[in-house]
Amino acid sequence: MKRNIQMFWLGVLLFAFFTISIPAAELPNIVVLATGGTIAGAAASDVQAGYTSGQVGVDQLLAAVPQAKKLAVLRGEQISNIGSQDMNDEVWLKLARRINELTAMSNVDGIVITHGTDTIEETGYFLNLVVKSKKPVVLTAAMRPSTALSADGPLNFYNAVAVAANKDAAGRGVLVVVNDWIHGASSLTKASTTAVQTFLSPLRGLIGTVAYGEAEFYRGPVGRNTMDSEFSLDGVTSLPRVDIIMAHENMDGKIINAAAAAGAKGIVIAGVGNGNMTKDALDAFAAQAKKGIICVRSSRVATGLVGRNVEVDDDKLGLIASAGLNPQKSRVLLRLALLKQRTLADIQRIFQEY
Ligand code: ASP
Repeated sequence: MKRNIQMFWLGVLLFAFFTISIPAAELPNIVVLATGGTIAGAAASDVQAGYTSGQVGVDQLLAAVPQAKKLAVLRGEQISNIGSQDMNDEVWLKLARRINELTAMSNVDGIVITHGTDTIEETGYFLNLVVKSKKPVVLTAAMRPSTALSADGPLNFYNAVAVAANKDAAGRGVLVVVNDWIHGASSLTKASTTAVQTFLSPLRGLIGTVAYGEAEFYRGPVGRNTMDSEFSLDGVTSLPRVDIIMAHENMDGKIINAAAAAGAKGIVIAGVGNGNMTKDALDAFAAQAKKGIICVRSSRVATGLVGRNVEVDDDKLGLIASAGLNPQKSRVLLRLALLKQRTLADIQRIFQEY
Protein backbone atom coordinates (compact mmCIF):
# COMPACT_ATOMS: atom_id res chain seq x y z
CA MET A 1 0.00 0.00 0.00
CA LYS A 2 2.78 2.35 1.08
CA ARG A 3 4.70 1.43 -2.08
CA ASN A 4 1.60 2.20 -4.21
CA ILE A 5 1.34 5.65 -2.64
CA GLN A 6 5.04 6.26 -3.31
CA MET A 7 4.61 5.17 -6.94
CA PHE A 8 1.59 7.45 -7.24
CA TRP A 9 3.54 10.52 -6.04
CA LEU A 10 6.49 9.60 -8.21
CA GLY A 11 4.10 9.50 -11.15
CA VAL A 12 2.67 12.90 -10.26
CA LEU A 13 6.18 14.31 -9.99
CA LEU A 14 7.27 12.86 -13.33
CA PHE A 15 4.09 14.13 -14.99
CA ALA A 16 4.63 17.62 -13.61
CA PHE A 17 8.30 17.53 -14.63
CA PHE A 18 7.62 16.55 -18.23
CA THR A 19 4.50 18.63 -18.81
CA ILE A 20 5.55 21.82 -17.07
CA SER A 21 9.27 22.09 -16.38
CA ILE A 22 10.90 20.74 -19.50
CA PRO A 23 8.95 22.57 -22.22
CA ALA A 24 9.17 25.88 -20.32
CA ALA A 25 12.88 25.41 -19.67
CA GLU A 26 13.48 24.68 -23.34
CA LEU A 27 11.78 27.78 -24.67
CA PRO A 28 14.19 30.59 -25.54
CA ASN A 29 13.93 33.89 -23.67
CA ILE A 30 13.04 36.75 -25.96
CA VAL A 31 12.76 40.38 -24.88
CA VAL A 32 10.35 42.56 -26.85
CA LEU A 33 11.36 46.22 -27.08
CA ALA A 34 8.44 48.35 -28.25
CA THR A 35 9.03 51.71 -29.91
CA GLY A 36 5.58 52.48 -31.39
CA GLY A 37 4.51 52.60 -35.03
CA THR A 38 1.39 51.39 -36.79
CA ILE A 39 1.81 47.95 -35.22
CA ALA A 40 0.86 49.78 -32.02
CA GLY A 41 -1.55 52.12 -33.80
CA ALA A 42 -5.29 52.48 -33.32
CA ALA A 43 -8.19 53.92 -35.31
CA ALA A 44 -11.77 54.69 -34.31
CA SER A 45 -13.14 52.10 -36.76
CA ASP A 46 -11.77 49.01 -38.51
CA VAL A 47 -12.03 50.37 -42.07
CA GLN A 48 -10.95 54.00 -41.81
CA ALA A 49 -7.69 55.21 -43.33
CA GLY A 50 -6.89 57.75 -40.60
CA TYR A 51 -5.29 56.46 -37.40
CA THR A 52 -2.67 57.33 -34.80
CA SER A 53 0.62 55.42 -34.44
CA GLY A 54 1.95 54.38 -31.04
CA GLN A 55 -1.29 54.02 -29.04
CA VAL A 56 -0.99 50.45 -27.77
CA GLY A 57 1.52 49.59 -25.03
CA VAL A 58 3.89 46.62 -25.09
CA ASP A 59 1.80 44.54 -22.64
CA GLN A 60 -1.30 44.93 -24.79
CA LEU A 61 0.77 44.03 -27.83
CA LEU A 62 1.99 40.82 -26.18
CA ALA A 63 -1.50 39.97 -24.93
CA ALA A 64 -2.88 40.36 -28.47
CA VAL A 65 -0.72 37.47 -29.75
CA PRO A 66 -0.94 34.74 -27.08
CA GLN A 67 0.17 32.17 -29.67
CA ALA A 68 3.70 33.64 -29.49
CA LYS A 69 4.04 32.35 -25.93
CA LYS A 70 4.33 28.85 -27.37
CA LEU A 71 7.47 29.92 -29.22
CA ALA A 72 9.35 31.71 -26.46
CA VAL A 73 9.24 33.07 -22.95
CA LEU A 74 8.43 36.70 -23.68
CA ARG A 75 8.81 39.84 -21.66
CA GLY A 76 8.33 43.37 -22.87
CA GLU A 77 9.87 46.79 -22.34
CA GLN A 78 8.56 50.08 -23.66
CA ILE A 79 11.42 52.09 -25.17
CA SER A 80 9.18 54.76 -26.74
CA ASN A 81 5.69 54.93 -28.22
CA ILE A 82 5.97 57.11 -31.31
CA GLY A 83 5.23 57.00 -35.00
CA SER A 84 8.56 56.20 -36.61
CA GLN A 85 8.35 59.43 -38.64
CA ASP A 86 9.36 60.93 -35.25
CA MET A 87 12.27 58.52 -34.71
CA ASN A 88 15.21 60.41 -33.24
CA ASP A 89 18.74 60.05 -31.89
CA GLU A 90 17.63 59.90 -28.26
CA VAL A 91 15.51 56.81 -28.93
CA TRP A 92 18.22 55.29 -31.15
CA LEU A 93 20.90 55.61 -28.48
CA LYS A 94 18.58 54.28 -25.75
CA LEU A 95 17.46 51.36 -27.92
CA ALA A 96 20.96 50.37 -29.03
CA ARG A 97 22.35 50.56 -25.48
CA ARG A 98 19.48 48.46 -24.12
CA ILE A 99 19.97 45.82 -26.82
CA ASN A 100 23.69 45.63 -26.03
CA GLU A 101 22.92 45.24 -22.30
CA LEU A 102 20.26 42.60 -22.87
CA THR A 103 22.14 40.52 -25.44
CA ALA A 104 25.14 40.39 -23.07
CA MET A 105 22.94 38.56 -20.51
CA SER A 106 23.11 34.78 -20.55
CA ASN A 107 19.36 34.49 -19.91
CA VAL A 108 18.41 36.47 -23.04
CA ASP A 109 18.41 34.54 -26.32
CA GLY A 110 17.08 37.14 -28.73
CA ILE A 111 15.38 40.50 -29.17
CA VAL A 112 12.27 41.57 -31.06
CA ILE A 113 11.77 45.28 -31.69
CA THR A 114 8.38 46.62 -32.75
CA HIS A 115 8.73 49.76 -34.88
CA GLY A 116 6.96 51.89 -37.46
CA THR A 117 7.52 51.07 -41.11
CA ASP A 118 8.46 54.63 -42.19
CA THR A 119 12.00 54.59 -40.81
CA ILE A 120 12.50 50.92 -39.90
CA GLU A 121 15.20 50.62 -42.55
CA GLU A 122 17.20 53.40 -40.90
CA THR A 123 16.84 52.09 -37.35
CA GLY A 124 17.56 48.54 -38.52
CA TYR A 125 20.70 49.62 -40.36
CA PHE A 126 21.87 51.74 -37.42
CA LEU A 127 21.47 48.77 -35.06
CA ASN A 128 23.19 46.51 -37.59
CA LEU A 129 26.25 48.75 -37.22
CA VAL A 130 26.31 49.24 -33.43
CA VAL A 131 24.85 46.11 -31.80
CA LYS A 132 27.65 43.92 -30.46
CA SER A 133 26.07 40.48 -30.46
CA LYS A 134 25.50 37.49 -32.69
CA LYS A 135 22.17 36.76 -30.99
CA PRO A 136 19.12 37.34 -33.19
CA VAL A 137 17.90 40.95 -33.18
CA VAL A 138 14.70 41.18 -35.23
CA LEU A 139 12.63 44.25 -36.05
CA THR A 140 9.02 43.97 -37.06
CA ALA A 141 6.25 46.36 -38.01
CA ALA A 142 2.81 46.58 -39.59
CA MET A 143 1.18 48.57 -42.34
CA ARG A 144 -2.28 48.37 -40.79
CA PRO A 145 -3.10 49.54 -37.26
CA SER A 146 -4.03 46.99 -34.62
CA THR A 147 -7.72 47.92 -34.92
CA ALA A 148 -7.93 47.45 -38.74
CA LEU A 149 -9.77 44.78 -40.65
CA SER A 150 -7.07 42.23 -41.60
CA ALA A 151 -4.45 43.83 -39.37
CA ASP A 152 -1.03 42.49 -40.38
CA GLY A 153 0.68 43.20 -37.04
CA PRO A 154 -0.19 40.03 -35.10
CA LEU A 155 1.20 37.58 -37.67
CA ASN A 156 4.24 39.79 -38.30
CA PHE A 157 4.88 39.82 -34.55
CA TYR A 158 4.41 36.04 -34.30
CA ASN A 159 6.84 35.48 -37.18
CA ALA A 160 9.37 37.91 -35.69
CA VAL A 161 9.30 36.01 -32.38
CA ALA A 162 9.73 32.73 -34.28
CA VAL A 163 12.79 34.10 -36.10
CA ALA A 164 14.30 35.59 -32.92
CA ALA A 165 13.78 32.22 -31.20
CA ASN A 166 15.43 30.32 -34.06
CA LYS A 167 19.11 29.47 -33.52
CA ASP A 168 19.71 29.63 -37.28
CA ALA A 169 18.91 33.37 -37.20
CA ALA A 170 22.06 34.04 -35.15
CA GLY A 171 25.03 35.67 -36.85
CA ARG A 172 23.04 37.03 -39.80
CA GLY A 173 23.13 40.66 -38.69
CA VAL A 174 20.06 42.63 -37.64
CA LEU A 175 16.95 41.30 -39.39
CA VAL A 176 13.59 42.79 -40.34
CA VAL A 177 10.61 40.42 -40.52
CA VAL A 178 7.48 41.73 -42.25
CA ASN A 179 4.89 39.97 -44.39
CA ASP A 180 6.56 36.54 -44.36
CA TRP A 181 9.93 37.83 -45.56
CA ILE A 182 13.18 38.01 -43.62
CA HIS A 183 15.27 40.97 -44.78
CA GLY A 184 18.79 41.97 -43.86
CA ALA A 185 18.82 45.43 -42.27
CA SER A 186 21.36 46.62 -44.82
CA SER A 187 19.26 45.61 -47.81
CA LEU A 188 15.61 46.38 -47.28
CA THR A 189 13.74 49.47 -48.33
CA LYS A 190 10.13 50.62 -48.04
CA ALA A 191 8.65 50.46 -51.52
CA SER A 192 4.92 51.19 -51.11
CA THR A 193 3.18 53.86 -49.06
CA THR A 194 0.20 51.67 -48.20
CA ALA A 195 0.58 48.06 -49.40
CA VAL A 196 1.14 45.32 -46.85
CA GLN A 197 3.87 43.98 -49.16
CA THR A 198 5.88 47.18 -48.83
CA PHE A 199 9.40 45.94 -48.08
CA LEU A 200 11.82 44.81 -50.76
CA SER A 201 15.50 43.95 -50.72
CA PRO A 202 16.10 44.95 -54.32
CA LEU A 203 19.87 44.64 -54.67
CA ARG A 204 20.87 42.04 -52.16
CA GLY A 205 17.85 39.75 -51.95
CA LEU A 206 16.12 38.13 -49.00
CA ILE A 207 17.87 36.49 -46.05
CA GLY A 208 14.96 34.06 -45.83
CA THR A 209 11.25 33.56 -45.49
CA VAL A 210 8.97 32.72 -42.57
CA ALA A 211 5.45 31.35 -42.82
CA TYR A 212 3.38 30.90 -39.65
CA GLY A 213 6.60 30.70 -37.65
CA GLU A 214 8.43 28.23 -39.94
CA ALA A 215 11.61 29.97 -41.07
CA GLU A 216 13.93 29.13 -43.94
CA PHE A 217 17.26 30.91 -44.34
CA TYR A 218 18.90 31.38 -47.71
CA ARG A 219 22.00 33.41 -47.01
CA GLY A 220 24.08 35.36 -44.52
CA PRO A 221 24.30 39.13 -44.22
CA VAL A 222 25.96 41.29 -46.89
CA GLY A 223 28.38 43.88 -45.55
CA ARG A 224 30.14 44.12 -42.20
CA ASN A 225 27.76 44.17 -39.24
CA THR A 226 27.33 43.70 -35.47
CA MET A 227 30.41 41.85 -34.04
CA ASP A 228 32.31 42.60 -37.19
CA SER A 229 31.52 46.33 -37.25
CA GLU A 230 34.18 48.89 -36.29
CA PHE A 231 31.54 51.29 -34.94
CA SER A 232 30.71 51.56 -31.27
CA LEU A 233 28.54 53.85 -29.18
CA ASP A 234 30.91 53.79 -26.19
CA GLY A 235 31.09 57.33 -24.87
CA VAL A 236 28.81 58.65 -27.63
CA THR A 237 26.14 61.11 -26.48
CA SER A 238 25.22 62.68 -29.82
CA LEU A 239 25.61 61.95 -33.53
CA PRO A 240 26.85 64.45 -36.12
CA ARG A 241 24.36 66.16 -38.40
CA VAL A 242 24.15 64.79 -41.93
CA ASP A 243 21.50 66.08 -44.36
CA ILE A 244 19.99 64.42 -47.43
CA ILE A 245 19.20 66.58 -50.47
CA MET A 246 17.31 65.28 -53.48
CA ALA A 247 18.57 66.23 -56.94
CA HIS A 248 16.14 67.35 -59.64
CA GLU A 249 15.85 69.17 -62.95
CA ASN A 250 17.12 72.78 -62.87
CA MET A 251 18.70 72.35 -59.43
CA ASP A 252 20.98 75.08 -58.14
CA GLY A 253 23.48 74.95 -55.31
CA LYS A 254 21.61 77.10 -52.78
CA ILE A 255 20.10 74.23 -50.79
CA ILE A 256 23.50 72.52 -50.57
CA ASN A 257 25.03 75.70 -49.17
CA ALA A 258 22.06 76.08 -46.80
CA ALA A 259 22.70 72.58 -45.39
CA ALA A 260 26.32 73.48 -44.75
CA ALA A 261 25.26 76.77 -43.12
CA ALA A 262 22.84 74.84 -40.88
CA GLY A 263 25.77 72.87 -39.48
CA ALA A 264 25.80 69.68 -41.53
CA LYS A 265 29.10 67.82 -41.20
CA GLY A 266 28.09 65.65 -44.12
CA ILE A 267 25.68 65.93 -47.05
CA VAL A 268 24.20 63.03 -48.99
CA ILE A 269 22.81 63.79 -52.43
CA ALA A 270 19.94 61.59 -53.56
CA GLY A 271 21.20 62.08 -57.07
CA VAL A 272 19.51 61.42 -60.38
CA GLY A 273 20.68 58.22 -62.06
CA ASN A 274 24.15 57.15 -60.99
CA GLY A 275 24.38 59.84 -58.30
CA ASN A 276 24.33 62.74 -60.75
CA MET A 277 23.20 66.36 -60.36
CA THR A 278 23.22 69.60 -62.37
CA LYS A 279 26.48 71.42 -62.96
CA ASP A 280 25.44 74.21 -60.55
CA ALA A 281 24.67 71.72 -57.80
CA LEU A 282 27.88 69.81 -58.44
CA ASP A 283 29.92 73.03 -58.25
CA ALA A 284 28.35 73.85 -54.87
CA PHE A 285 28.80 70.26 -53.68
CA ALA A 286 32.49 70.20 -54.65
CA ALA A 287 33.03 73.62 -53.01
CA GLN A 288 31.59 72.30 -49.72
CA ALA A 289 33.74 69.16 -50.02
CA LYS A 290 36.80 71.42 -50.35
CA LYS A 291 35.80 73.10 -47.09
CA GLY A 292 35.83 69.72 -45.31
CA ILE A 293 32.17 68.72 -45.42
CA ILE A 294 31.92 65.06 -46.37
CA CYS A 295 29.86 64.92 -49.57
CA VAL A 296 28.37 61.60 -50.62
CA ARG A 297 26.73 60.85 -53.95
CA SER A 298 23.87 58.35 -53.59
CA SER A 299 20.84 57.96 -55.86
CA ARG A 300 17.12 58.63 -55.78
CA VAL A 301 16.71 55.59 -58.07
CA ALA A 302 15.24 52.60 -56.22
CA THR A 303 17.95 50.12 -57.11
CA GLY A 304 21.54 49.93 -58.39
CA LEU A 305 25.01 50.91 -57.25
CA VAL A 306 26.53 54.40 -57.33
CA GLY A 307 30.08 53.94 -58.59
CA ARG A 308 33.13 56.18 -58.24
CA ASN A 309 34.28 58.32 -61.17
CA VAL A 310 31.54 57.27 -63.60
CA GLU A 311 30.08 60.57 -64.89
CA VAL A 312 31.51 62.59 -61.98
CA ASP A 313 35.23 62.81 -61.24
CA ASP A 314 35.06 61.94 -57.52
CA ASP A 315 38.85 61.76 -57.23
CA LYS A 316 39.26 65.31 -58.50
CA LEU A 317 36.31 66.81 -56.60
CA GLY A 318 36.88 65.00 -53.30
CA LEU A 319 33.52 63.22 -53.25
CA ILE A 320 32.38 59.83 -51.91
CA ALA A 321 30.27 57.34 -53.90
CA SER A 322 27.65 55.50 -51.85
CA ALA A 323 28.13 52.08 -53.55
CA GLY A 324 25.06 49.94 -52.68
CA LEU A 325 23.52 52.21 -50.05
CA ASN A 326 20.45 54.33 -50.68
CA PRO A 327 20.45 57.94 -49.37
CA GLN A 328 18.84 57.15 -46.01
CA LYS A 329 21.25 54.32 -45.25
CA SER A 330 24.19 56.38 -46.54
CA ARG A 331 23.25 59.05 -44.01
CA VAL A 332 23.21 56.54 -41.13
CA LEU A 333 26.61 55.14 -42.08
CA LEU A 334 28.14 58.57 -42.57
CA ARG A 335 26.93 59.77 -39.16
CA LEU A 336 28.73 56.87 -37.51
CA ALA A 337 31.82 57.26 -39.70
CA LEU A 338 32.03 60.94 -38.70
CA LEU A 339 32.26 60.10 -35.00
CA LYS A 340 35.99 60.32 -35.56
CA GLN A 341 38.30 62.22 -37.89
CA ARG A 342 38.90 60.22 -41.09
CA THR A 343 40.45 60.63 -44.50
CA LEU A 344 38.26 60.58 -47.61
CA ALA A 345 39.88 57.28 -48.59
CA ASP A 346 38.87 55.76 -45.27
CA ILE A 347 35.28 56.97 -45.64
CA GLN A 348 35.14 55.53 -49.17
CA ARG A 349 36.47 52.21 -47.79
CA ILE A 350 33.64 52.24 -45.21
CA PHE A 351 31.06 52.70 -47.97
CA GLN A 352 32.52 49.70 -49.80
CA GLU A 353 32.65 47.46 -46.72
CA TYR A 354 29.30 48.10 -45.00
N1 ASP B 1 3.87 56.28 -39.82
C1 ASP B 1 3.89 54.93 -39.32
C2 ASP B 1 5.23 54.73 -38.60
O1 ASP B 1 6.22 54.63 -39.24
C3 ASP B 1 3.73 53.97 -40.43
C4 ASP B 1 3.82 52.52 -40.09
O2 ASP B 1 4.26 52.10 -39.03
O3 ASP B 1 3.46 51.71 -40.97
O4 ASP B 1 5.23 54.70 -37.40
